[in-house]
Amino acid sequence: MASSAHRNGGVPRGALKAHPSGSSVRQSSFKSRLPTSSSPGSAVRRSSPASLAGGGGGSFKGQDGVPGRVRVAIRLRPRNTEEMSADADFADCVELQPELKRLKLRKNNWDADTYEFDEVLTEYASQKRVYEVVAKPVVESVLDGYNGTVMAYGQTGTGKTFTLGRLGEEDTADRGIMVRSMEDILANVSPDSDSISVSYLQLYMEYIQDLLDPSNDNIPIVEDPKTGDVSLPGATLLEINDQQSFLELLSIGEAHRIAANTKLNTESSRSHAILMVHVKRSVTGGDDAPSIENGNSSHFMKPSKPLVRKSKLVIVDLAGSERIHKSGSEGHMLEEAKSINLSLSALGKCINALAENSSHVPVRDSKLTRLLRDSFGGTARTSLVVTIGPSPRHRGETTSTILFGQRAMKVENMLKIKEEFDYKSLSRKLEIQVDKLVAENERLQKDFEDEVERINLEAQNRISEVERNFADALEKEKLKCQMEYMESIKELEEKMVSNQRKHNRDGFFDDKHIEEGLGFEEASEIKRQLNDEISRRKALEEEVNNLKSRLAQCLQPRENGGGEILRLHKDLEDEVREKKKLEEEVIMLRSQLLQMTLETDQPRYHDRGAYRDSFNGLNSLTSQDQNPHYRSNGNRQKASAATLSEQVGLQKILSLLESDDANVRIHAVKVVANLAAEEVNQERIVKAGGLTSLLMLLRRYEDETVRRVAAGAIANLAMNEANQELIMVQGGISLLSMTAANAEDPQTLRMVAGAIANLCGNDKLQQKLRTEGGIRALLGTVRCGHPDVLSQVARGIANFAKCESRLATQGIRTGKSFLIEDGALPWIVHNANDEAAPIRRHIELALCHLAQHEVNAKDMVSGGALWELVRISRDCSREDIRNLAHKTLNSSQTFRAELRRLRVEY
Ligand code: ADP
Ligand code: MG
Repeated sequence: MASSAHRNGGVPRGALKAHPSGSSVRQSSFKSRLPTSSSPGSAVRRSSPASLAGGGGGSFKGQDGVPGRVRVAIRLRPRNTEEMSADADFADCVELQPELKRLKLRKNNWDADTYEFDEVLTEYASQKRVYEVVAKPVVESVLDGYNGTVMAYGQTGTGKTFTLGRLGEEDTADRGIMVRSMEDILANVSPDSDSISVSYLQLYMEYIQDLLDPSNDNIPIVEDPKTGDVSLPGATLLEINDQQSFLELLSIGEAHRIAANTKLNTESSRSHAILMVHVKRSVTGGDDAPSIENGNSSHFMKPSKPLVRKSKLVIVDLAGSERIHKSGSEGHMLEEAKSINLSLSALGKCINALAENSSHVPVRDSKLTRLLRDSFGGTARTSLVVTIGPSPRHRGETTSTILFGQRAMKVENMLKIKEEFDYKSLSRKLEIQVDKLVAENERLQKDFEDEVERINLEAQNRISEVERNFADALEKEKLKCQMEYMESIKELEEKMVSNQRKHNRDGFFDDKHIEEGLGFEEASEIKRQLNDEISRRKALEEEVNNLKSRLAQCLQPRENGGGEILRLHKDLEDEVREKKKLEEEVIMLRSQLLQMTLETDQPRYHDRGAYRDSFNGLNSLTSQDQNPHYRSNGNRQKASAATLSEQVGLQKILSLLESDDANVRIHAVKVVANLAAEEVNQERIVKAGGLTSLLMLLRRYEDETVRRVAAGAIANLAMNEANQELIMVQGGISLLSMTAANAEDPQTLRMVAGAIANLCGNDKLQQKLRTEGGIRALLGTVRCGHPDVLSQVARGIANFAKCESRLATQGIRTGKSFLIEDGALPWIVHNANDEAAPIRRHIELALCHLAQHEVNAKDMVSGGALWELVRISRDCSREDIRNLAHKTLNSSQTFRAELRRLRVEY
């Protein structure tokens, strides 16, 4: 059957299962009693498929916005005692076919009309089943937030009140729809968040009377013009929390109804009883917003959107339907009949209009229709139970009741859920959340403070521990340094002693470090020899003169013997050679004698060679030249050297540098070196070609003593600016470099370093000096580690740096320092804090000069020179150098940035 689809939901499965095998048999037996479709006047009266379309089955649940239909059930009351006897001989006027949801209404013995309902409830139907079929879907719908209505329509005495209002106090099985509805509602709501309140009213003669407060008997109906919601603000509204209080409320209402009717001298069947149950439920809006009651809720979650769903269940026990037809005919007052009729007939008209989909539904015609405006049809779920009696005597009444039900089945409704935003509950929830967060925040703050305190304490402990460890380590380091210091002092002393011994053994001049007495002895011996030589020379000179005169005599008588002349000539040549040799010897002896006389006068001063001190003149940073002892020595030395050159003749001495005799050369170079130590001689020496001869000695690669002394002499000559250029022009740098490279004696290295150091001080020679490897040669000499050599290197570097600085200031030089480019920086930094004051001073000055030019700053920072500068600016004992370092540090952006980066307060 096409219409069966819309019924299934409302039929309890148990009912259908009750006769699983017999249904077809019964169906066929009923069929035989059914009129055939061709029979005139016989037809199955049922709702048109069109009006049922979209009904979507019996269940109303969860069909928001889906059109539904008023569900209509018919209930047959069993015969009562009176009917049992009065109608004993007559059959009932109806025959029910509950499994087919049909009802046959007999017209006469041979003809019947068949009607189809949503549910057909026989006289045996239990109250429980009636509730489940008629009201339960509506109650569920109300719990879901829709308005719903359950109405009972039927003739007086057919069981409307029995169906709806039975309290079942004696037998719980008798409980009617009102009681069972409330039971279901209470079981499904949450007492914390939901609320249920009830009004109980009766509508009599178009007056609404409060059954909970009967004195209130003209309650106005208020309609919200916007939403169309109907309310009775004047009616008592009691909150229901449990079933018992509801039962009491129903009892009171019923008692008042009886009392009111007694007072008015009316019957309850003339009035409509209306129970209104207001359900207010909290719901959570939006799936994305978790509830804050959730234990896992985070502080950052949005609170859920609090919504409240308001719905209304209206249960209406209508006045007896017979009143519509029978009023007046039974002697009732016209006015009352009219009024009673008004509401019921208006309901009928509305149902007709709704069933026919008429554009005008006369809702405003009566109080009942106005009251049910938001609860019947329209947006509500509606169930109608139509009650009939079995007596054929009331066939007319029964027929009209059935037809009313049939029309009602065509009324469609469109459900709408009613939700409101619950600001109050939102505010309450937010307040709770704020409180929680405040408490949480307080707790976190406390934890944080505790943690900070703990960390502070720990840090303090650690700091004091580190301080302790540091102090211990410092003390240990100090002791270690002291030990090392003592050891190195001891070592140095030992070295010094051994050096002294060595010098005593093979001294600067081999023949110089003899005992004083021995010196005198030898001197007198040499003096004696010299006198002998002089007398021999005189004798020889006399002999030569003799021979000369004899020769002249011999030449006159030529013919007197030419052989004799030749022989004599040869003798003469021999004699001249002998004479020259003797003269050389004389010069040597004289120079030696003079030197020795000098050394005998100042034996201590000459421990390292006379020309050594010539460097002092250059070395402005040492204070030796201020020592009167030195000054007097210098004067005496000057005098003796002058005497020497005067007595012997410079030209003669220089000529000896090229003597064939190596010993002579050695002696000669020593003499020249000593002469070169005197500024007055320097110019003369150079003019006489002494420089060239000295360089020649280096070039010829003589033995080391010659080279050492020659280098010393060159160093002395290099003090003079004019000579410096000459030295360079004559390839002096490469010769000095070569000499340094091959030298083993520290003193040789010292001489070379001294020579180059002097050249380093010349602005004009910077480029050439560097190009020819002067800086590298100078740095190469440090390999021996001798403090005298280091001192010369430091002086050279300071000179060079000073010149570079000067040239850079004048804008002549722009690039990075040649010293840095040639790799001098590591040595500079390493020796910047040398123990020897002269070395330290030179290097400190060199650093200050280098630092004055920003172009060097980066290399200086990376090479560690910055720290030395900082140290110099703080610790240097010379105020001028200290100030220079300080000024330099301040003027360099690179240094300042680096110090800032290292957080060095400067
Ligand atoms: P109405 O309210 O329609 O005037 P009532 O509910 O007062 O009718 O019922 C009239 C009488 O019939 C009452 O005595 C009631 O107990 C009885 N009655 C009604 N329906 C049934 C039923 N289904 N089973 C037994 N008795 C019923
Ligand atoms: Mg009744």
